[in-house]
Amino acid sequence: MRRWNGWGEETITFPLAPAPAAFLKDVIDPGIPTHDAALEEVIAQVPPSRLPTYSLISVDPAERVRHARGQSLPDWIALRSGRIDTFPDGVAYPEGESEVRDLISYAREVGAQLIPYGGGTSVVGHINALPGDRPLLTVDLRRMCLLHNMDEINQLATFGAGVTGLHLEAQLRARGYTLGHFPQSFEYSTLGGWIATRSSGQQSLGYGRIEQLFAGGRIETPSGTFEIQPFPASATGLDLRELVLGSEGRLGILTEATVRVTPLPEQEVFLVVFFPDWERGIAAVRQMLQSRLPLAMLRLSTPMETKTNLLLAGHERLMGAVEHALALRGLGDTRCMLLMGIAGCKAVVTSARKEALHIVGRLNGVSLGRLLGAGWQKQRFRTPYLRNTLWSIGYAVDTVETAYPTWDRVPALVDAIEAALRSGLVEDDEKVHVFSHLSHLYRDGSGIYTTYLYRIASNPGETLRRWRVLKAAACREIVALHGTISHQHGVGTDHQRYLLAEKGALGLAAMRQFYAHFDPEGMMNPGKLVV
Ligand SMILES: Cc1cc2nc3c(=O)[nH]c(=O)nc-3n(C[C@H](O)[C@H](O)[C@H](O)COP(=O)(O)OP(=O)(O)OC[C@H]3O[C@@H](n4cnc5c(N)ncnc54)[C@H](O)[C@@H]3O)c2cc1C
Repeated sequence: MRRWNGWGEETITFPLAPAPAAFLKDVIDPGIPTHDAALEEVIAQVPPSRLPTYSLISVDPAERVRHARGQSLPDWIALRSGRIDTFPDGVAYPEGESEVRDLISYAREVGAQLIPYGGGTSVVGHINALPGDRPLLTVDLRRMCLLHNMDEINQLATFGAGVTGLHLEAQLRARGYTLGHFPQSFEYSTLGGWIATRSSGQQSLGYGRIEQLFAGGRIETPSGTFEIQPFPASATGLDLRELVLGSEGRLGILTEATVRVTPLPEQEVFLVVFFPDWERGIAAVRQMLQSRLPLAMLRLSTPMETKTNLLLAGHERLMGAVEHALALRGLGDTRCMLLMGIAGCKAVVTSARKEALHIVGRLNGVSLGRLLGAGWQKQRFRTPYLRNTLWSIGYAVDTVETAYPTWDRVPALVDAIEAALRSGLVEDDEKVHVFSHLSHLYRDGSGIYTTYLYRIASNPGETLRRWRVLKAAACREIVALHGTISHQHGVGTDHQRYLLAEKGALGLAAMRQFYAHFDPEGMMNPGKLVV
């Protein structure tokens, strides 16, 4: 069963070895575990539903609790402490488009608002029930999860939009194909959620972001069915796919999506290399990109992330051997780890690998072969389980992400975000452990992904206040240095206040008008994206 107040399956744990636990005590101070509310206590707080009875809707309090919050840190604080102020009034699980249309009609009749729900993995407040006068109905798309059509000639696959990453890949792999979209939330996040948030997978360099993969689809809106045909290209004015991408449930409910798929690669390898320092690591990835090498993934960690990841990996003997090998090559504390993925036919993989390693060598990088890369591949969707372990020993974890348009200024933005977070709780005499990596790299700039850990306070209100201080400090730096407020997680509620700086007043007004056109009565996902 899925955890109701944390990440993942209840049966899966990610234990922390003594060395990384000691490291965290050293860099942050000892964590103080707090008491978590029991599910039964929270269920007992759920108020009566304001929705009139309807056969497609469940008003079961347990289901309403499970759909009340997503996976952001404020969501975790609310769930763990049991302080959830608002619950959806009901949850529906439609099995097809006609039921989705029925739910929209019902909501109109009873004056309800609808929250489209994919996997509930949002980290910015997208699916949260917000306080208001109108009843809230969460529409969980999990039953719309089948492959409807597989067009092998044109490599297009059409799915129900509620399909999870795991289920989507299983259906494609059985036919020899892959979508190649692997966000770390892959086990639970859905195709509809990816499209509605403009998600980016770990191998976006090779397969493309969801924008490139989404070819067309059908959306049920309060104003009717909106159909987007999957043209390979078109010069007929505005690309209507763009209206759906990043719509965060404000436009309507995406019921079906057609995506561009790829035959499974003949070969896929993940290699780990180390550079003597951050500057040479950055130079290497930029050169690889600008040489247009056919790579599927590049992820470059700062020295602190390199150190933290090697410790958290937990295999003390293997990591001891890695340390030894790197020390022999003269790579010390400033070393940076690069994870490279290459996929395709054997000849392409061989030549891309050779070219990439040539660039690595020119910048004094050291390759440790495939062992660490294979280890990463095996564990790639396990790392989020560490959040559960860290919380249980008193540490909160969150991330901020942005993309920056020019390579020469990427290091300055990484430094600024990290410095803002590191010093964010100085006045509280609390330390923050911060580290970053560059992933989702482009020829003209890079995505920046920063992780921070701090101590949970004994009072959930204080833990939330610390988060607000840290989040605002990091976002201020992103806005001041003209990064985007989100490269992949979206806007939800948490990034709304920073949108004006990015879109401008005219742009924001256009977005509001556009959603109002499809949803004149303000029924869809109230309070999210733009208000
Ligand atoms: C541990 C973890 C790792 C993550 N890693 C990544 C990552 O690597 N890359 C990345 O991009 N994101 C990542 N995320 C963020 C999150 O997984 C993405 O935003 C994802 O796209 C959300 O998908 P979902 O199906 O869970 O959507 P939900 O969280 O259920 O919903 C998100 C938004 O999409 C809307 N929506 C969902 N389905 C539909 C639909 N069918 N029609 C209309 N609107 C819909 C909702 O109304 C809401 O506004 C991560 C999150 C977690 C918790």
